[in-house]
Amino acid sequence: MEHHDEISNAIPLIASENVTSPAVNEAIVSDFSHRYAEGWVGQRVYAGCKFIDKVEQICIDLTKEYFNCCFADVRPVSGVMANLVLYNAFTSRNNGKMMAMPIPKGGHISHAPYETSSGRRIYGTAGTVRGLEIKYLAFDEENMNLDVDESAKAIREFEPEMILFGGSVFLFPHPVKELSEVAKEIGASVGYDSAHVAGLIGSGYFQDPLREGADAMSLSCHKTLPGPQTGAVVSDREDLVDDLKNAAFPSLFSNHHLHNVAGFAVALTEMLEFGKEYHKKVIENAQAFGTALNERGFNVLCEHLGFTKSHQVVINIVDFEKTVGLGGDIERLLEDANIIINRNLLPWDIREGRHYMNPGGLRLGTSEITRLGMGKSEMVDIAEFFKKLIIDQKDPKKVREEVAEFRKNFQEVKYCFNTPNKAYEYLKFY
Ligand SMILES: *Cc1c(COP(=O)(O)O)cnc(C)c1O
Repeated sequence: MEHHDEISNAIPLIASENVTSPAVNEAIVSDFSHRYAEGWVGQRVYAGCKFIDKVEQICIDLTKEYFNCCFADVRPVSGVMANLVLYNAFTSRNNGKMMAMPIPKGGHISHAPYETSSGRRIYGTAGTVRGLEIKYLAFDEENMNLDVDESAKAIREFEPEMILFGGSVFLFPHPVKELSEVAKEIGASVGYDSAHVAGLIGSGYFQDPLREGADAMSLSCHKTLPGPQTGAVVSDREDLVDDLKNAAFPSLFSNHHLHNVAGFAVALTEMLEFGKEYHKKVIENAQAFGTALNERGFNVLCEHLGFTKSHQVVINIVDFEKTVGLGGDIERLLEDANIIINRNLLPWDIREGRHYMNPGGLRLGTSEITRLGMGKSEMVDIAEFFKKLIIDQKDPKKVREEVAEFRKNFQEVKYCFNTPNKAYEYLKFY
């Protein structure tokens, strides 16, 4: 109760979060949540799956339609599990080699060993449980993207079995086309982790990895895609279908989360209908938010590139170290006013001696506030709240009241069907 009360009065800016519609909520509390299926549709290990099979097949078909591809597996229960499916399909156990985005520059913990500020590598993360040797692709800090020439050189030198694009700080499309050509030269498979940007890709606004050279793509269903917390793998390579299926089940999991499959199917019906409008607005809002923050004296990264082409904006807050502190301090200050954001490592932070607990950056996302109906003028209002708190150092308790007042007009989830709706028509089975 207290959490719900607080979050419904907050400004939610966590880039990896979104909210589900009433129709999705109905699906995820259905009886499906009690059941076991295991295996592929029509080849289950358990009885009682007649309607579950129908729903999962609908979900698979909708996923294929949304991403325009021949294969979708909606069983991985999270984005990390979807990444593991790709590692399982494309690399050898114990002596396999992979290259991915550097973690301190925006790669995900599931891509590589985690490195402490003293440079110690901690193994046991998802990328390493398979025993992979992992090296980083080269990163261009000024443009917040992979460096094509240096990465190409590193790929030819290391000769990995797999290259993985995508990351958690993800402002601009990665050079998938250019580097996939290098990957093909050395016979490496190409994966794309679209956990953050899957919705932008499906709605046609970011890049199209499956057409640019990626063999398969992993995703989370709940970041720019407003589905329940689950994952998926998609591919447009007929010849890889069996490998990908087997890499998931029985290799990695037994049952998957059937209620979330139903919920994801509903979210896909919403995005096939409203995604173009919604995701266009998500990106426009991120760009407007970057501009508004920049105009108020914040150092928003990549002004020369228009700040962002995704749902994220990243700001460098080291100038405020002496007045209000670094990322961790500012995260708490904003939370006191009920504005919920992520502190984030900037690419140069570790080199300059900053720690991930109190780094030099903030990562802000517009997926959830857009889904609540906010537009460009609200981005200016939110940038004003940031100025009041961080630059003018106003009392966060006072700002908190203004935030609650501001949020009163944005209590409904938009870009979904009003019940009774098309989603229910599709999913009368659950
Ligand atoms: C969030 C994220 C994941 C993990 O997704 P979960 O669904 O939370 O497991 C994987 N990769 C990247 C790049 C992410 O940002």
